[in-house]
Amino acid sequence: MMNVKNSKTLCVLPWLMRYIHNDGRFYLCCISASDPDNALKDDSGKPLFVQNVKHLNLLDDCQRLQTIKKLLSQNQWPDECRKCREHEARGSLSHRLLKNKEFAKSIDSIESGTSNIEILDLRLGNFCNLRCVMCGPDASHLWVDKWNQLQPKSLEMNKYQLDSFKFQPWPTQNEVWQKIKQDSQHLVSIELAGGEPLLSNEAKSFLTSLIQDGHAQNIELNIITNLTVLTEDWLKIWSHFKRVSLRISLDGVGEYQELMRPGLRWESFEKNIKKLDLIYLQFPFSEVNINFTLQALNAKQLVPVMKWLQEFEHIAPLPHVSILSEPEYMDSRWLSESIKTDLIKLWNRELDSIVSGPQFDQIKNQWLIDSFERASGWLKGPAPKAAQAHAWSQRLLKDKELHSQLKKCDLELLLFLLSL
Ligand code: SF4
Repeated sequence: MMNVKNSKTLCVLPWLMRYIHNDGRFYLCCISASDPDNALKDDSGKPLFVQNVKHLNLLDDCQRLQTIKKLLSQNQWPDECRKCREHEARGSLSHRLLKNKEFAKSIDSIESGTSNIEILDLRLGNFCNLRCVMCGPDASHLWVDKWNQLQPKSLEMNKYQLDSFKFQPWPTQNEVWQKIKQDSQHLVSIELAGGEPLLSNEAKSFLTSLIQDGHAQNIELNIITNLTVLTEDWLKIWSHFKRVSLRISLDGVGEYQELMRPGLRWESFEKNIKKLDLIYLQFPFSEVNINFTLQALNAKQLVPVMKWLQEFEHIAPLPHVSILSEPEYMDSRWLSESIKTDLIKLWNRELDSIVSGPQFDQIKNQWLIDSFERASGWLKGPAPKAAQAHAWSQRLLKDKELHSQLKKCDLELLLFLLSL
C-alpha cells in the first residue's frame, strides 16, 4: 500500500494512463512527450515500443516507471515531469493538477494498489492529408520529402532522420491493437490524435470492437482532428459512446486557414463544421471546440476566428488558444512590440464583447477564457534568443507557396517577417 494521497507531487497519470506516441514509444503523457529524452525505457536503457511489450500492464516491469511512481508519491519530481513542475512554479494550472482533479475518484485505487488502465492517449502515427506550415514529418508524412526543400538550413535533417519518419507502422499492426484491447475493460477515456485520426481505419475497428464488447457506453472519446473528413461511419461509431468531445484545429478563416494548412479546402472544412453544429444534439457530444495554435503567422487571425465562431449554436463560442514554441522562428513573440500591444487590445475587446453576451456560459467556457490570458502573458514575455530570427526569411525564400499566399493575404506581415 502506497501512501500517495498526501504527496504534494502526486500525478495519477503514470498509474491510470498509457500514452503511445506516433512512433510507438511510451511516454508518461502528452506534456512529457514534448522531449524525446522522456520516452520510457527498459532496464537496459532502450526505449520501450508498443510493438515490443507483451502487455500494456507489463510496463509495470519498467523499472523507471516504478521509480517515477515512487518519486511522485514522495513529494519529489521525476525529470520526465519537469514541465508540470515549471508550470506550477510560475503559478499556472498544470496538466497534473487538471488530471488529478478529473480522476480524483481513482486515487483510492492507486493508494490500495488496485488501479487499472483507465485512460488511453493514442497518437496514431503520422499519416495525414495536410502539411500544415508549422508541422513536421513526425506528425505528417507529407512533410518527409518536403522538409529539407522548405525549411531553413538550421533545421534540415539527414536522410536517416527523414527515413525514420517515412513509415510509422504501429497503428497498422493488428497484434498491437489486440494488446491494447486486452486492457480495455476498465477504460473511461480514450484520446485520439495523429496524424489525422479520422483517416485511421484501424482506430475505427478498435472503437467498433469496444462497442461490440459493451465497453463503449462507459467511455468518453476525445479526438483532435483537422475535420477535413466527416463520414457517416464515424458518426455511427460516436453515437455508441458515453460522450464525445472534438477539438478541431483551426488557425485562420477562409484562405488564411488554407495558407496555414496546405491541402485543406475551406469550403469543405466549413461544410463539415456546419454539419456538426446542425446534428450536435443527435449525438452524445460533450463539446466541440476549436484549437487555435498561436504563432507569428496567424496572431492577427485570432479575432476573425472569434467573430466567425459566433455563427454557430453549439460549437464553443471561443477558441482554445494553444501556444506554439517550436519551431522557434515561428514563435509569435517575434512580432514587433507595437503589433503585440495592439493585438492584445483587440483580443481583449473582442473577448469582453463575447463574454458579456446573454448566451455566454461563463462556467463552461472559463478554461477557454483562461487560454486567452495565457496567450496574452506569452506575448508580453521576452522574445526567444535572436539566433533563429533570420530563419523566417530563409523559409519564405524557399517556400514559394507560403510566400505567394502570404503576399496575397497579408503583405505587411510578409515584409515584416522577411526583415527579421
Ligand atoms: S506530472 Fe505532468 S508531466 Fe508528469 S505525468 Fe503528470 S501530467 Fe505528465
